Amino acid sequence: MKGNFPIEQFEQLQTPFYYYDTELLRRTLQTINQEAGRHEGFVVHYAIKANANPKVLNMICQAGLGADCVSGGEIRRCLEAGFSPSKIVYAGVGKSDWEINLGLDKNIFCFNVESVAELEVINELAAKKDKVASVCFRINPDVGAHTHAKITTGLAENKFGIAMQDMEATIEKAASMSNIRFTGLHFHIGSQILDMGDFAALCNRINELQDVLEKKHVKVENINVGGGLGIDYQHPNRVPVPDFKAYFDTYARLLKLREGQKLHFELGRAVVGQMGSLITRTLYIKQGTAKQFLIVDAGMTDLIRPALYQAYHKIENISSEEPAETYDVVGPICESSDVFAKAIDVNKAHRGDLIAMRSAGAYGEIMASQYNCRELPKGYITEDF
Ligand SMILES: *Cc1c(COP(=O)(O)O)cnc(C)c1O
Repeated sequence: MKGNFPIEQFEQLQTPFYYYDTELLRRTLQTINQEAGRHEGFVVHYAIKANANPKVLNMICQAGLGADCVSGGEIRRCLEAGFSPSKIVYAGVGKSDWEINLGLDKNIFCFNVESVAELEVINELAAKKDKVASVCFRINPDVGAHTHAKITTGLAENKFGIAMQDMEATIEKAASMSNIRFTGLHFHIGSQILDMGDFAALCNRINELQDVLEKKHVKVENINVGGGLGIDYQHPNRVPVPDFKAYFDTYARLLKLREGQKLHFELGRAVVGQMGSLITRTLYIKQGTAKQFLIVDAGMTDLIRPALYQAYHKIENISSEEPAETYDVVGPICESSDVFAKAIDVNKAHRGDLIAMRSAGAYGEIMASQYNCRELPKGYITEDF
């Protein structure tokens, strides 16, 4: 047996399922609060799109974090989990009217607005309700994050945000709208970022933009730098908690906050990534001509990251201590991309062995689908055993 898993209890359960180590989640949340708490004006939100399991959300809410939502469904889910509307921010390039209305009805903290077209609709809908919507503008800072192309969001050619050169005109436009209150600037440059230099580049860009706005006497109450801090997928045991100190210190050192300004963060992966594992069972060992396949009962429907982003997840046989053999680990879905890993070493596996795919707490369960008419995987936390 390996790692921190209650294997005997796992044996009773239908696989595949997600297991969330809540001791690690608590430790992670404590570290976040401790490291962010060292700095005046830092406010941390959790990006709920990373993992919206109700029990997990409830723990994050208890730790005092706010919520970053990207849909009306997420707003509902985090209200159910206990988050106060006053701590909810709502971003997204394509907000439907019902979603904007929901945000207005619940009096959420802020809409992160991504276009002038959207701003006009929010103004109209707010007017109908005789309300004033607080908005931040999501600015595309044209800062590239050194990560996978599918998860960079801050480059000029991206669909996200308002171009820098349109920032001032957009703020002026907002000032002329009676049902809009401009409260700040929002940024998010991408995900799984481990190079603090990328965040440093964002800080420099924000400083430049703030200088421009200061000259025009535009008051900016909030700066929101989004999320993006990565986790160590290679070493989930050695580095279970991301380096939040380096992350927050980078912003504290480089970003010049103005008097009374709040600095908001929206962390997803770094909060929940390492605490989750996908637990699956070995169905067959299939001998190919040049390789052997370890066929498991989890597929890309349960964890799509390897198929979608060629993402790496450490794979462990938690039922075996036998010498390692080399396998391609594959699922049962009728797609050639349903491969978790190629030519990796795993302790010799037999039918029935439990396999753990580590670092799967973020963008795992929440991205599951029912393709091939499969059941969605369940999520269990430590307290369930
Ligand atoms: C996805 C997202 C986040 C969280 O990203 P992570 O890489 O998981 O930290 C934060 N803000 C916005 C606007 C997002 O879309």
